[in-house]
Amino acid sequence: MSRATKPTFVDVNSPALAINCPNCGLLTARFGQYCRNCGYSIWPSSRFASAAFQAWREVDPARRDCSRFDLEPPLRPEDQVVVVDFDRKAHELGIHMPPGSSYPIIICLGLFFMALAAVPFATPARLVLAVIGLAIFLFGVIGWVVVEDTRHFPGFEAASQGAHTEAMAAAPAAAQPTETRVEEVH
Ligand SMILES: [Zn+2]
Repeated sequence: MSRATKPTFVDVNSPALAINCPNCGLLTARFGQYCRNCGYSIWPSSRFASAAFQAWREVDPARRDCSRFDLEPPLRPEDQVVVVDFDRKAHELGIHMPPGSSYPIIICLGLFFMALAAVPFATPARLVLAVIGLAIFLFGVIGWVVVEDTRHFPGFEAASQGAHTEAMAAAPAAAQPTETRVEEVH
């Protein structure tokens, strides 16, 4: 491309890929020759628009993957992965998240044996299956709900109750109108 076709009036410092059309005011590609909404000619020619785009793109290596016809730059691979720490969020919101556990598999095994007890075998065999199934099932439920859960969250209830009491003590005036409003609703 010759130097002469490079327009000198492009604001290459502006990172915008989209502009509001001077004619219709709607958003359109900044380096497209025509407004995509009303067809207004934004650039005198396609070559001009292309040259302006090239000049704009050469300023910053981050603009390398941009397309002339995009309204915004493409997402980089590192931007496409959204990392959300749900455990931390839940803790902030005071929601009790159960820890990862293998006890549900044991519970299912217990249910399996109890289901076998429903098959019309000889009665002693069914009783034995039912007792084994119930034992495994209860082992899984107690292990999951009582042992493991409280071990992972030793002071959870105490901590949340303490925070609640502090909040009530700190803002008694704020708590009062809420109570009044609830009474009115009932
Ligand atoms: Zn337009």
